[in-house]
Amino acid sequence: MKHLDIAKFGGTSVASFNAMSSCVKVVTANPHTRLVVVSACAGVTNILVELASGALNREEVMDRIAKLRAIHQEITAHLPDKEACDAHIEEHLTDVRNLAAEAAMERSDELTDRIVSHGELMSSFLITEVFKYAGFKARCFDVRNVMRTDSAFGCAKPLLEVLGTLTRQQLLPLLDGEEIVVTQGFIGSNTEGMTTTLGRGGSDYTAALLGEACDAETISIWTDVPGVYTTDPRLVPHARPIAELSYLEAAEMATFGAKILHPSTLVPAVRRNIPVFVGSSKEPEKGGTWVRPDTATHPAFRAVALRRNQTLIVLASPKMVGASGFLARVFSIFAKYSKSVDLVSTSEVSIAVTLDAGSNTSGLNSISEDMLSELREFCHVRVEDKLSLVAIIGNDLAKTAGVTAKCFDAIEKYAVRMICYGASSHNLCFLLNEADAVPALAELHQHLLEQ
Ligand code: ADP
Ligand code: ASP
Ligand code: MG
Repeated sequence: MKHLDIAKFGGTSVASFNAMSSCVKVVTANPHTRLVVVSACAGVTNILVELASGALNREEVMDRIAKLRAIHQEITAHLPDKEACDAHIEEHLTDVRNLAAEAAMERSDELTDRIVSHGELMSSFLITEVFKYAGFKARCFDVRNVMRTDSAFGCAKPLLEVLGTLTRQQLLPLLDGEEIVVTQGFIGSNTEGMTTTLGRGGSDYTAALLGEACDAETISIWTDVPGVYTTDPRLVPHARPIAELSYLEAAEMATFGAKILHPSTLVPAVRRNIPVFVGSSKEPEKGGTWVRPDTATHPAFRAVALRRNQTLIVLASPKMVGASGFLARVFSIFAKYSKSVDLVSTSEVSIAVTLDAGSNTSGLNSISEDMLSELREFCHVRVEDKLSLVAIIGNDLAKTAGVTAKCFDAIEKYAVRMICYGASSHNLCFLLNEADAVPALAELHQHLLEQ
């Protein structure tokens, strides 16, 4: 299909009837937009995660179900076939309640994914109805027919080959029809047909994976801000929108905490050279950011980002002096527990690493006691939390004189727990106490990006 655009709308973009109506305007303004990927309505996934935790009592469960009903009924209230739509939502809520009762007996990641998938299933159903009410032909497609993943519930990995084949067989032909096709972000299914999810914020990744499979011309990520900014505008009011970003810069930003893009979003886009647009569904006229293979300018400082909930593990062993194999042993244990290491720093007798606290749907702390005791068998282990990572993203950082001085000057007031610099010419990272992170981010923004 020629000139296909895939439009993804996040939680706030589908939070209410009015928000959904703005999405309809955005989609129908571009004749190339044939596929729409939606997140759950704002707040819904968090409530579903609570219900899946098994930690709520009966009253709390009923309270959460009532909240879910209210969110979705605000939308059905505007639809001509309100009763039928309410009945459809009620079926989902009954299923959620039954599954939550199962979770109260014994929670599991598999059950959690089944519960949270209802968020996207409900929002996709409702926005399809909003399209029809606005006079457009639309249909809702269950993405689990094509989004094949492994069985890592909570943070499943797509099985690219089969996902590509299924998408081209079942989804692509629909895009040539008259109807706008709406589907769910975030959710998938394993080869046994069990529901999985791609990790929190995963709808961006769904859009990019489907874009790759359909060979789309563009992928549009519509959210609640008009583009990618020099930092999170909610944290630093002076943040400015960036008109153009390279894949590399955007990927670094997403990896280091810019929540606007799920960290894996750029991976499929890069494989197929698909430009990604980021804009506001409420204010599309404000324009946005184009993320492309490369940009005309390569400023040393492009953006700063914040990633919270970092865990630092310091492993010390006097036997490390002059010995070989210590690091291999440490990393094989991290690999065994599927822990992704972000920052690494070594001294003669110790190594410090930060671990990704994880973004799966379970919301559980990912540092397992079993892993720590395996490490304790051959070294002294110290775990520190309440830390945040502040990253400076730019170009040729390691080749430009004065870069480090500027960065250190900006945060001279704060204690720096760890520094990472040199592996990539595109970032410089500081690990700081959680309480210092936002003020340090603001100082860095002011010194590096507001001059
Ligand atoms: P959606 O529900 O549409 O996926 P998200 O909440 O996941 O939206 O992402 C949008 C939010 O990302 C913004 O509201 C903003 O607070 C945050 N954000 C973090 N870093 C940036 C950045 N560099 N530029 C813009 N927004 C950012
Ligand atoms: N609804 C999911 C979440 O809240 C996925 C997404 O919004 O992208 O994490
Ligand atoms: Mg998001």
